[in-house]
Amino acid sequence: MKIVVLKFGGTSVGTTNKIKKVAEIIASYKKKNFKVIVVSSAMGGVTNELIKKSLEISDNYSDTEHDVLVSAGEQMACSLIAGRLIHRGFKSRSWLSWQLPIITVGRHKNSRINKINKNKIMKYLNEGGIPIVTGFQGINYENRITTIGRGGSDASAIMFAKFFKAERCVIYTDVEGVYTTDPNKLKKAKKIKVISYEEMLEMASLGAKVMQPVSIQDARLNRIDIEVKSSFKKKSGTLITKRSKIINNKIVTGITSTQNDSKVSLIGVKDKPGVAASIFKPLSKNLINVDMVVQNISANGKDTDLTFTVKTEDLNKTKKAIQENKYINYRKLMFEKGVSKISVIGVGMITTPGVTFRMFQALANKKINIQVISTSEIKISVLIDTKNTKKALIALHKEFKLDNKK
Ligand code: ASP
Ligand code: MG
Repeated sequence: MKIVVLKFGGTSVGTTNKIKKVAEIIASYKKKNFKVIVVSSAMGGVTNELIKKSLEISDNYSDTEHDVLVSAGEQMACSLIAGRLIHRGFKSRSWLSWQLPIITVGRHKNSRINKINKNKIMKYLNEGGIPIVTGFQGINYENRITTIGRGGSDASAIMFAKFFKAERCVIYTDVEGVYTTDPNKLKKAKKIKVISYEEMLEMASLGAKVMQPVSIQDARLNRIDIEVKSSFKKKSGTLITKRSKIINNKIVTGITSTQNDSKVSLIGVKDKPGVAASIFKPLSKNLINVDMVVQNISANGKDTDLTFTVKTEDLNKTKKAIQENKYINYRKLMFEKGVSKISVIGVGMITTPGVTFRMFQALANKKINIQVISTSEIKISVLIDTKNTKKALIALHKEFKLDNKK
């Protein structure tokens, strides 16, 4: 008999009515003779509420207690799912991470699953039971409760699929799958049937909220196929799998855009070893995430300009960190809010020349100015004025033939 791991996200188990629907989905797999392992997230909003409470207690709430507190949300959801399945005549029960256990390593609030003890779940599956396991949480070697980062129940599900050698890992969520671009920003966005781990990782890191980026990396390393689909609509979703399984004539698979970015430029910094490091050291110390970085070549061999982007919410912290930095000199410091990063992603660009040109030409045709460019093997990103985002998405979606039905 084959094992399937089903993961339900916060919105899928957001109300008791939705949990009843989830139970029917689970039942449908059971009826198809699968051995079903369910991993659930907390009911939507619960984790945030718990975090809010902790901050009312202390603005410096203990990390170990944070994990005990926020992991409570998953316990609730799992019991409700199991309760419904029992009500429907199935053999089911909830399992908390420590009851297996699910062992994690690393810091509190951001641990990683290292091992899952399979014995109890295996036995239960063989007895015909449906185990409902808490996502997001584990215990460490000191026997303390841990959590594995926001959105972490995706990673929990992937690790279950890995340790139990599951046939399938299905991520049930509130959208129908992964789209060529955010359907809320562009109506013409199309559901992607299959996408490679690498492309999905780029899309998730660039803001496609469907899955937690870390979990995709886990799936890639362990070669686990993931199906993302809706809990509410009976429609096929998106398959995330390895490149060699994908036959695709599209060069670009998806396009992402960011909001609320700001651009920081240091004009006339010394062109010598260690300067970039001294600029970024205080930023990393302040946990400011630096995104696109470009440095010009030095025309006179002495000084150069350096530009990078940060989230606008971090702009004031960034300004302060640079202005107070005694180790750097520059002629001028410039800041600009309201920029957006537009990225086109696709493994097809490795083998197809001219993608960069087509992207730039499509933007030029719409008179959109490109401020910063960065590329990787499967991605080209440009920084543009935020007010041109929609125009750029429309133009690029068309240019790379994503408007067409697949
Ligand atoms: N409930 C946790 C969170 O809100 C984990 C998850 O949703 O995957 O981050
Ligand atoms: Mg979630």
